[in-house]
Amino acid sequence: MKHPILEASGLCLAYESPEGTQTQIGPLDFTLHEGESLGLIGESGAGKSTVGYEILGLLRYKGGRRVGGHLDFRGISHEDAAFIPQDPLSALDPLFSIGSQMRELGASGAKIEEVLRKVRLPLEKMSLKSYPHELSGGMRQRLVIAMALLRSPKLLIADEPTSSLDPLLQYQMMELFRELHREGMTFIFVTHQLALAASFCERLIVMHRGKVAEQGTPDQIFRSPRHPVTQQLVQSVPVMKV
Ligand code: ADP
Repeated sequence: MKHPILEASGLCLAYESPEGTQTQIGPLDFTLHEGESLGLIGESGAGKSTVGYEILGLLRYKGGRRVGGHLDFRGISHEDAAFIPQDPLSALDPLFSIGSQMRELGASGAKIEEVLRKVRLPLEKMSLKSYPHELSGGMRQRLVIAMALLRSPKLLIADEPTSSLDPLLQYQMMELFRELHREGMTFIFVTHQLALAASFCERLIVMHRGKVAEQGTPDQIFRSPRHPVTQQLVQSVPVMKV
């Protein structure tokens, strides 16, 4: 068994609105192991992204905070985690060339070349002088993954990374994640798509209204979902009739 690199125990996160109401997420208990791909699934508003932000150390910049419990890193820290957002344009500055944005992150030319090759965006196909709007949606998403890899992270938190892509690009992106995972990358894969998470993750955590409704392997979740929300998620997976 791989060793745990992240443990949440009784973790409670919250946002306060100007009107004084509070959205509370948690208490949450879960463990992430080295090299694992863990799926965080659940309906919109369940609290998945909030958990991701806290792991990245970004929650306070998003207006939230930790109000209880623990999140313990073992052998890694916030800095070892990188984020892949749903919308690549939100992560790229439209006013600067791709090359300048990558160099801004302190990367050497050799490292830039290495990560672009990894995501199948070799320099023969794409100029570093290009601007984000000059790339296709699929290329932009690959570029954001390459930028996440520049810091040689140990953990990738991918938040709905394929939601804005067509099915073929979605498949290609998942193949890229599988390759990174085979090479030892640890993943937290945030999605509302149970089938997609099940095809990639070794373990799934189903969140519902800020709490962990259920966790288990994809097999356990599909064969015997216990929580009503998991049962609905399983039922909502399309079945192909041929
Ligand atoms: P998910 O990723 O599962 O869609 P989120 O983590 O984005 O869910 O949101 C969880 C809850 O926190 C939701 O009720 C959402 O409205 C609330 N929330 C998210 N971001 C903020 C914020 N910046 N300020 C106040 N409430 C927020």
